[in-house]
Amino acid sequence: MGAKPARTVRRHHTHLLLPQASLGDPQRVLLDESLKPAGWTADPDQSSSMSLQWRRGRDGLRVQTLGWFPLLLTVGPLGRVTSVHRDAVARLTAAVTANGGRTFTDRQLADYLPQAQLRWQRALTERRRLAEAERVLEGRRCHRCGAWSEPEMTHCTGCRLRFTQADDAEWNAVVAQASTTIDAAQAVLADLARGVRLERIDHGGASGGVRHG
Ligand SMILES: [Zn+2]
Repeated sequence: MGAKPARTVRRHHTHLLLPQASLGDPQRVLLDESLKPAGWTADPDQSSSMSLQWRRGRDGLRVQTLGWFPLLLTVGPLGRVTSVHRDAVARLTAAVTANGGRTFTDRQLADYLPQAQLRWQRALTERRRLAEAERVLEGRRCHRCGAWSEPEMTHCTGCRLRFTQADDAEWNAVVAQASTTIDAAQAVLADLARGVRLERIDHGGASGGVRHG
C-alpha cells in the first residue's frame, strides 16, 4: 500500500486521437465535461481551435492540437506533474476512448505528424470539390438567355420558355455527375477524419502505394 509505484513513465505528455476533423465545440464540450467533476474549469481566454486550458487551484492543464483529420491532441501539465494531473489525463483519456478515440505513442506521433499536413491538404481539396459540386446544383442556366433558374423549375425565369427535352437531359446528367462527386468527396472526408489509412500512408512496405477503395 505505502510502496511507491515504479516510475517507469518519464514523459509528461499523453497523446490522444479523436476520429474527427478538428477541435471544435463538440470536442471542447466532451473534454470539458470529463474534467468538470474533478474541479477543473476551462480558461476561455486560452481556448482556440489550437489549444485548450483548464485550471484547478494552482494546477494547470493544457491540450494542444497537433494535427487534423483525424484530430491529434497532446495533453500536458502547466508546471509540475502531480497526481491531480494524472487523474485529469485519465479522465480525458476515458472520454476520448468512449467516443471512438484512443491514445497513441511518441513513436506513432512521429509517423502521424508528417501525414497530418498531407491529410489536411487532401481535405481542403475535397472540401473545394464538394463546394463546387454543391454550387452546380444550386441552379440551372438557360442556353438562350443565360439566366439562372431554380433547379426544379421547368421554365426559365429569364425568358420564360420551357426548357427543352435536351436541356432537361443535360441538366439531369449534370445533377448525376455532381451528386457522384459530392458522395465521393464526403466519403473521403469522413475517412480522413476517422483516421482511415493513417497507419498505411507512409508505411508503404510491399504495398508500394497501392490504395484500396
Ligand atoms: Zn432563358
